[in-house]
Amino acid sequence: MQRYFIPPEQFGDEQIIIAGEDARHITKVMRGKPGDKIIASNGMGREAVVEITSIEPQEVTAAIVELLPQSGEPWIQVDIAQSLPKGDKMETVIQKCTEIGAVSFIPFLSERTIVQYDERKEGKRVARWVKIAKEAAEQAHRSIIPAVRQPVKWKELLRLFADYDLVCICYEQEQGEQLRDVLQPFASGLDRSRPYRVLIAVGPEGGFGEEEVRAAESAGAKSVGLGRRILRTETAGMAALTCILYETGEMGGA
Ligand code: SAM
Repeated sequence: MQRYFIPPEQFGDEQIIIAGEDARHITKVMRGKPGDKIIASNGMGREAVVEITSIEPQEVTAAIVELLPQSGEPWIQVDIAQSLPKGDKMETVIQKCTEIGAVSFIPFLSERTIVQYDERKEGKRVARWVKIAKEAAEQAHRSIIPAVRQPVKWKELLRLFADYDLVCICYEQEQGEQLRDVLQPFASGLDRSRPYRVLIAVGPEGGFGEEEVRAAESAGAKSVGLGRRILRTETAGMAALTCILYETGEMGGA
C-alpha cells in the first residue's frame, strides 16, 4: 500500500488532506480513485490506513479507517552529526541513514571541513536534504521523517552533547577503544522501558584534528575506532549507526 507523509495540521481525527506533489502523485501516477486505500503518516508517529473520499488534481481527502501502531521506529534514538562533506555526499548520508533508522541529522563545520558554508545558499541545500529524508522515510516505511537541522559550528555541536546518553566521535587514529568496546557495556545496561539518545559524530574528508577529538572527549564524547580500514566520510556514519542498532537489538536478538 502506497505511503505518504502529510503535514500534522492536515492529519485530523476523522480525515486527512493530501495536497501538492503527493496529491498529484496519487491522481496522475497512482490513478487513485475514491474507495482506494493508502497509508498516511503525520511524520511524528501518527500513522493510519485511510480511504480516499474525494480526489482533485491538487487535493485528495481521505477518511481514517484504522490507526496503525508505530512500526518503523527503533526504540533507541540515534542522531548523525556529519561534518559537511563535498558534493552530494550529504544526500547519501541522509538517504542511507534514514533507511537504517537515524532520527535526525546535524550537519556541522569542523576544522578541516572543505565545503565553504554560505548561510544563504545552505537554505536551498537543507530544503533538498529534507526532501531526501522524506522520500527515504516513505520508502523505508518509517513512522517519522528524520529532522535535518541547519548546519552548526563546531562549538555549538559540542554543546549539544549534553542532550545525549552516549556520544561517539568516530576517529580513525583511535588506537584504543573501538565502537564495540563502548557499545557492549552501554547496551548491556539499557532499560528498555525508556528512550535513549545516541549521537554519532563523523569528520569530513580530511578527518578530525587531534585537538578536536580531545575537545569532544572533554565535552563527554567517547572517541571510537570503526576497525582498521579507513571509511569514506559518507560511509562511516551508516556503519556506526548499523552497529548501534544491531548491538541494541534492533536487528534481532533483543
Ligand atoms: N584521516 C582520514 C584518512 O586518513 O584518509 C580521512 C578521514 S575519513 C575519510 C572521514 C571520517 O570518517 C573520519 O573523520 C572519521 O570520523 C570517519 N572514519 C573513517 N574511517 C574510520 C575508522 N576506521 N574509525 C573511526 N572513524 C573512521
